[in-house]
Amino acid sequence: MDEFGLIEQFFTRRARHPEVVLGIGDDAALVALAGASEQLAATTDTLVEGVHFPQSAKAFDVGYKALAVNVSDLAAMGARPLAFLLSLTLPAADPQWLAGFRDGLFALAQAVGIDLIGGDTVRGPLSVTITALGAVAPGAALRRDGARVGDRVYVSGLLGEAALGFLLRGGRVSLPHEFHEPVLTRLDRPVPRIAEGRALVGIASAAIDISDGLVADLGHILAASGVGARLDLRRLPLSAAYDAAFASVGYDPALVFGDDYELCVTVPPEREKALAAAASRLPCGLHYLGDIVAAPGLTLYDGQGVYTPARAGYNHFDDPGPV
Ligand SMILES: [Mg+2]
Repeated sequence: MDEFGLIEQFFTRRARHPEVVLGIGDDAALVALAGASEQLAATTDTLVEGVHFPQSAKAFDVGYKALAVNVSDLAAMGARPLAFLLSLTLPAADPQWLAGFRDGLFALAQAVGIDLIGGDTVRGPLSVTITALGAVAPGAALRRDGARVGDRVYVSGLLGEAALGFLLRGGRVSLPHEFHEPVLTRLDRPVPRIAEGRALVGIASAAIDISDGLVADLGHILAASGVGARLDLRRLPLSAAYDAAFASVGYDPALVFGDDYELCVTVPPEREKALAAAASRLPCGLHYLGDIVAAPGLTLYDGQGVYTPARAGYNHFDDPGPV
């Protein structure tokens, strides 16, 4: 049983309240409150030491990333961040570690404009759970189930940077020295694409943030929308660092590792003009990769023909894990 099968079998229920506009299965749930001009987007994510970050991780980076991965889910819904709750499990109250964690947490909170409004602190093996809340206009949220045949597939920013950081730290890839800091920063301090998500409201037909790898995450859009996709790997947005490593790592780190927290979106062809206007205001850029097709599944091709990655993506409970 994988992570998604587990949720489906044990936890998916029909909502009792009509105010629950969207329940389990997207980047965030949506709740409409009577009389409110916006809906609440709610999401939660846990980082566990030894699973999501190594024991050697800096406290600053743990605090930053725990909030960043949650805010990224709000970005993938096109929501604006409002507030978050923090549940912290600590083996001991170490003031030095807590100060570093706090600095990282609030550095990102300040950057994206989100307030800490509550939480819980308990003793146990180190783990951080954050629940983030955002707001989005009714009917405007970017969901996973809106992709249609003929839509075009885009990603923001660069892919595979966090994977390179992970491989570099593990001594599994060698890179020219000038690339070390950029790829490690991308792994430790991902930038949630809040402005991008909000700019894509009314333009994108579906969206997801890339936490588990392009193949797995676009796969969620395809499954929710009942469509397939064909992508040209020669269009993958790869950095100079990635180009330097390509001969030894190939396409896979950019396809199946995840942790980039870029957005993957689908856009109907009639909204291409609006997309171009929106993209011109976004510094990270949006890159066209291919098209939504009727045949189910994801087909990846390059100049050599169809390409199959070595594994599909990160999934708890059916994988040895990233550490
Ligand atoms: Mg997500």
